[in-house]
Amino acid sequence: MIRLSELKLPLSALPVVTRRSADAPAETDADRAPIIHPFEALTRMSAQALGVDLADITHLHVFKRSFDARKAELLAVFIVDVTLNDPALETRLLAQFQGNPHIQPTPDMAYKLVASAPANLPRRPVVVGFGPCGMFAALILAQMGFKPIVLERGRKVRERTKDTWGLWRKHVLNPESNVQFGEGGAGTFSDGKLWSQIKDPRHLGRQVMTEFVNFGAPPEILVEAHPHIGTFKLVKVVENLRERIIALGGEIRFEQRVMDVEVDTANGKRQLRSLTVLDQASGQTYDLRADQVILALGHSARDTFAMLHGRGVATQAKPFSVGFRIEHPQSLIDRALWGRHAGNPVLGAAAYKLVHHAQNGRAVYSFCMCPGGTVVAATSEPGRVVTNGMSQYSRAERNANAGLVVGIEPIDYPQDSAAFIEAFGPVTGEQYAQEALELRALDPKAVHPLAGINLQRQLEANAYVLGGSTYEAPGQLVGDFIRGEASSQFGSVLPSYKPGVKLGDLHGALPDYAITALREALPVFGKKIKGFDLPDAVLTGVETRTSSPLRMPRGEDFQSINTAGLYPGGEGAGYAGGILSAAVDGIKLAEALARRVVG
Ligand code: FAD
Repeated sequence: MIRLSELKLPLSALPVVTRRSADAPAETDADRAPIIHPFEALTRMSAQALGVDLADITHLHVFKRSFDARKAELLAVFIVDVTLNDPALETRLLAQFQGNPHIQPTPDMAYKLVASAPANLPRRPVVVGFGPCGMFAALILAQMGFKPIVLERGRKVRERTKDTWGLWRKHVLNPESNVQFGEGGAGTFSDGKLWSQIKDPRHLGRQVMTEFVNFGAPPEILVEAHPHIGTFKLVKVVENLRERIIALGGEIRFEQRVMDVEVDTANGKRQLRSLTVLDQASGQTYDLRADQVILALGHSARDTFAMLHGRGVATQAKPFSVGFRIEHPQSLIDRALWGRHAGNPVLGAAAYKLVHHAQNGRAVYSFCMCPGGTVVAATSEPGRVVTNGMSQYSRAERNANAGLVVGIEPIDYPQDSAAFIEAFGPVTGEQYAQEALELRALDPKAVHPLAGINLQRQLEANAYVLGGSTYEAPGQLVGDFIRGEASSQFGSVLPSYKPGVKLGDLHGALPDYAITALREALPVFGKKIKGFDLPDAVLTGVETRTSSPLRMPRGEDFQSINTAGLYPGGEGAGYAGGILSAAVDGIKLAEALARRVVG
């Protein structure tokens, strides 16, 4: 097959679909029309580009489609794969066009399992966590015949949905079943953006997308340049994926929290031996013999991070970002980015990506932008407020939202004993403060692995109080924030965050350097996207779970650098940032584990 790229067609060549107008209220996912491709026109263009007759092309497959809205006329841009009736002609053409970036051989993107489980498998592998990383690790292990056991602290996705809405609607948090914890992991209630900038020479991301479609995602996600799936559809995909793992002999245990690990340290080598698991339904703990365990914990498993640190598993502090969510009318963003094309039904809701390097050396950037979505309460701990964003497949809500965050480094994390005690309680806090002192005695720049959690917990608890201690989020209008005045009344933008937003002054919600950098960035972003610094736009806080505050370093064999049998991965271990990259990492972990077992 030959892959041709940059085939551009005016929008008028595409079949007309109806979707939403720029100011339309929420619709259902069913309103989103499927893509119909202009096959005839594309075949003609391909034949012309290759210099062959139309009849020479026996099949055309649309691989990707994007839109170019920069010109007066809106263009659809395609990448297609064509099959010719004569394989020899195909070979000749590929030789003729060698070096032409727009005419290349179609790569083989099919995924092949790397191993199969031995008949006498001594012990089943265990996967801890059933987010994207754990789901794909378990799926691949199951497909290879390893019959994994999955331990997930949260509940099944439907029950979890009720728990999550319990916080949003009734101000009641379930610390074990919420936006962060439960079947499907952190991205279940999300925009479901499914792209990533990771290097992926083996096309594992494509395999993830293909499995998503197998399990019920719209096939369009394989074609769109920036696919997303939205919350409701993701729930169904997660359920189907779970059923497949079970059908292949895997076992998925919900409400099972890993509380401890037993590590054998004989002969100076550390080898994982077993897990202690709390069955949250019965309150009983049990030991599970396990010497091959994938740790796909996500970035919010703070208790588990502390336990692993306590058991000597290698962990180190890493940078992350903190900030606020910002909400604008989606129509403002559409108009600013697409001008006259705004509201065009094939385009849907416009997304943006912004970066500004502030004078104080901090980077300010937009994070997890959710076009036509809502801001959600994303805490997993009582007495804390955390924001994030989600949307449905239709992306048809009135507001656009995104995290507006500032990069921070481990050196910014508070390491005094008060900070550790506030975050971890008196006994453990004192112990960590002592460890931090000892580390700094050896290296003045050393940062305790858990110190990032100090900052997260401080900011989240402070936001809870600023919001009125009811899980409402503290908020401020952009105009007031820039001027340094408290807000008391909403303007033209009404925030979407549930359980609600309490207006006031966000100045004390983040460290000073972050506030300074954000104040500087907003007017700059207003020059890049007209209206971004709209005085009525709403900021809500705080966004603190942008990525994991620590890393669990692993070797080339994907095992912890100091504990054999433990395979840390996904976002919690610092090896992914998003649904797709976490799922890809899950595949790699499963492969590494399988290779180790089969030798
Ligand atoms: P997680 O998805 O966090 O899964 C970890 C799992 O481990 C959890 O289910 C947790 O319950 C479980 N666990 C933790 N500790 C234990 C324990 N001790 N015992 C047993 N189980 C345990 N990314 C995107 O790419 N696109 C988006 O649009 C997007 N939107 C998002 C919106 C929201 C509201 C949130 C919160 C995140 C969003 N993300 C998005 C980020 C994305 O969800 C994460 O990057 C991704 O889920 C990380 O996958 P993971 O498997 O590494 O960890």
